[in-house]
Amino acid sequence: MSINSINLIYLASATLFMLGIKYLSSPSTAKRGNFLSMIGMGAAIGITLTTPGLHGFTLITIGIIIGTVIGGYAAIKVKMTSMPEMVALFNGCGGAASALVAMAEFRVLGTEFDSFTLITLLLSMIIGGLTFTGSLMAYAKLQGLISTRPITYPGQQLINGAILLATLALAVLLFQDPGNMLVFSGILILSLLLGVLAVIPIGGADMPVIICLLNSYSGLAVSMTGFALNNNALIITGSLVGASGIFLTKIMCDAMNRSLANVLFSAFGQVVESADDTGEGPAGTMKGFELEDVATILANAGTLIIVPGYGMAAAQAQHATRDLGDYLGEQGVEVRYAIHPVAGRMPGHMNVLLAEADVPYDQLFALEDINDDFASTDVVLVIGANDVVNPAAKDNPSSPIYGMPVLDVEKATTVIVLKRSMSVGFAGIDNELFYKDNTMMLFGDAKSSLQKLVAAMKQ
Ligand code: NDP
Repeated sequence: MSINSINLIYLASATLFMLGIKYLSSPSTAKRGNFLSMIGMGAAIGITLTTPGLHGFTLITIGIIIGTVIGGYAAIKVKMTSMPEMVALFNGCGGAASALVAMAEFRVLGTEFDSFTLITLLLSMIIGGLTFTGSLMAYAKLQGLISTRPITYPGQQLINGAILLATLALAVLLFQDPGNMLVFSGILILSLLLGVLAVIPIGGADMPVIICLLNSYSGLAVSMTGFALNNNALIITGSLVGASGIFLTKIMCDAMNRSLANVLFSAFGQVVESADDTGEGPAGTMKGFELEDVATILANAGTLIIVPGYGMAAAQAQHATRDLGDYLGEQGVEVRYAIHPVAGRMPGHMNVLLAEADVPYDQLFALEDINDDFASTDVVLVIGANDVVNPAAKDNPSSPIYGMPVLDVEKATTVIVLKRSMSVGFAGIDNELFYKDNTMMLFGDAKSSLQKLVAAMKQ
């Protein structure tokens, strides 16, 4: 097939990707968006295999089979609760693939580089390498393999800056001696190290921003690989991922009340001497309640706002949540859902789960659209949310989440919290909401508590 025909198919694929992203922006059209993107990707891969001069088909076929089996198995087997970890790993795979292609190309070209190819190969390897290890760190934090608290040490920013400078210095050295494998390997090692060191100081509550940023980086790395290989599909696809990732990063920055520059230079997430570190717990007394008492309060509410969090996802309680909302709605209670932008473990996590359970979209409200209404609400039902309803973000300047916008649930007449224990959330900090006079704690798995509450109210 001629290069022109191949580029025409690439253009068609890119159009399908853009349509796919557009349709993915609403749960009702998301499946169509996924399907169109799948066709686009299939066409792009298929047509690439007809590139004139391409060889090594056995290796390519083996690669495609291995990738398809792993991807297909992961897509079928992964639980909804593990989706964020899978997304982190996939970001890492994008980075690793770009870095590997850059390394292979570097070997193939020997010393025959023009400056443009060398710059794009270097960027592809540096961004790809740090995206790979950074994503592995994000995965380890999400999976609880390493502490979600910021890991910091004296001179951390200086050391990170020095590594970045050393990487750039080696890159300049490579321009003078293009075939030098030792310098090339040094750049790779420093990029991998940078990914680890840039992510470990990021605190739990700030992880959404860094995951979106890594997603964007993986796109940038792919796009650089496209420039180095002169492949339009990679350039367009990489740019799409890079651009949409950076927009998502901006949205998450706003949600966390952080500036983008603040994130880019990892100037946040350092250890702060917080009230929790002093050993003094929040003021007030925690009050655990019996299921029947909680059911009575719910049944007598005129207005109810449900606040889902990561615990709802962990308990797979989205259907039980909808059942409770539907039942109370039928009894004349005004039921609404308040969605915090970083609730759960991935952007849009709560929207995806509630859409899966067929909760009507018009009952879902974003933080900024509902926060003023808590003060005039009878009951707030917090289902497995913790950090996103922590008042310390508003009134404790020494808290690691200080400044993050949170849902003002404590302003409601009564707050009911469903969780299993007094354990902390992802940011690893205590929550004074659980000790407030108007808060009722109902301990237990969220799904089981919700099912029992509906059963008790129906009796
Ligand atoms: P949190 O992680 O703050 O709290 C979740 C709570 O759910 C825990 O306190 C836990 O308490 C409870 N829980 C866990 N399992 C169950 C269960 N089976 N039944 C009932 N309760 C359960 O969640 P939030 O949604 O409030 O906040 C999200 C946090 O994650 C924020 O800090 C955010 O920054 C961070 N994050 C968000 C990402 C995103 O993109 N959305 C990505 C990465 C991090 P207990 O163990 O006592 O039950």
